[in-house]
This record gives sequence, structure tokens and C-alpha cells, in this order.
Amino acid sequence: MSETHAHNGPKREAVLPTAALRALSRWVKRLTILRSTPRAHPTSGRATERDLRMMRRALELARTSAAADEVPVGAVVYRGDEIIAEAHNLREAVNDPTGHAELMAIRRAAERLKTWRLSDCSLAVTLEPCPMCAGAIVQARLGRLVYGATDPKAGAVHTLYNLCSDRRLNHSVEIIAGVLAEEAGDLLKAFFRRRRAEKKADRDDDRPPSSRVRIR
Ligand SMILES: [Zn+2]
Repeated sequence: MSETHAHNGPKREAVLPTAALRALSRWVKRLTILRSTPRAHPTSGRATERDLRMMRRALELARTSAAADEVPVGAVVYRGDEIIAEAHNLREAVNDPTGHAELMAIRRAAERLKTWRLSDCSLAVTLEPCPMCAGAIVQARLGRLVYGATDPKAGAVHTLYNLCSDRRLNHSVEIIAGVLAEEAGDLLKAFFRRRRAEKKADRDDDRPPSSRVRIR
């Protein structure tokens, strides 16, 4: 039997189409993944003088937050030069897991403008919003988002998710990232450093002198 005949044998005919089908199915799967992968917003631009001014105000609010023993994050909703609403974290004060600065500021702005649709407003927030707040930004149809430090543990705008620019959702936001990020990041670092030191001091106070085991 010649080699050509061997290639046309029954075994080859059964194997080749299966391999081809597998390759095709892998290719289709890859295409589907590519199509569903969110893409970054193309109009992400630079911060204006006004954005910087608003971020400075948000940083002031973050400092107020830290002084009240809340995680130092501040947020400002503005329309043109007008501040519509502002807030800092209130999670501890009101025992509200949703008490994040940007969510509070969005709620207050909607209340004040008597509309849930904030498409002509911008939001400046010192830290990259979490999934909950990024969701609220999309729900409020906010026109622009200006944020400071990135959040490696919960950031849902660029870091862990792309919720504000995911084209599968019905609204995407213009995003300006990293505005006065160092200042915002330093505030957070100092806050958590202080908190860790306080917790350690508390633990040391609680510990009986000769033993780590506490007897109640
Ligand atoms: Zn949040």
C-alpha cells in the first residue's frame, strides 16, 4: 500500500474531522470571549482645572472622614462650577454597609436635583469606586467620573472590574483616573497605619503579663 493510500485509510478519515471540529470549537470559544471582554472607555481624558479644584475639596472631606474615625474617602458631585452634593464615608457612624462617600454624594445630589438621572454631573472621589459604587455611578447615568488613588482590593473601575466602561451595560462614563492620587493614597495609608497601631496597643493592653490566654 502506498503512503497516499495510507492517508486515505478509514482511521485517518475518522480522526481528522474530529480534530478539525475541536480546533473550530476552540476558535469559536475564543471569539466569544473576545467579544464579551469589556473595553476601556475611549474618551478617558485629562483632568481640567475645575476637576482638580473639586478633587481638592474631596480630599478635605476625606480628612474630615479620618478625623471622625471613618476610612478617609471624600466625594463631590458637581455640575459646571456648582457643587451639587458632597459626602465622606459614614459607614461606622451610621452602621451602614452602603455608607460609602460616593454613594452618599450621589444620593444627596439626586435628592437635591429631584432626579435620579445625573448625566450632566461629574463625580470626584478620592479612591477608585468599589463594585457597589461603580454600579451606582452607572445607575445614576453620571456623565464623568474623576478619581484619585486606585484600589487594588476593591477597585471596580479599572483594577478588578471595568464596570463604568463595560459596553455590555447600558451606560458608560467618561473616566479620568489618578487625579491627586498620591495625596489620596497617603491619607489612606496613614489612616490604616494608625488603626493597626491602635489595634496592636489594645491587644497588648488586654494581654495578661504572663500569658496570652485570656480567662473570662
Ligand atoms: Zn463604594
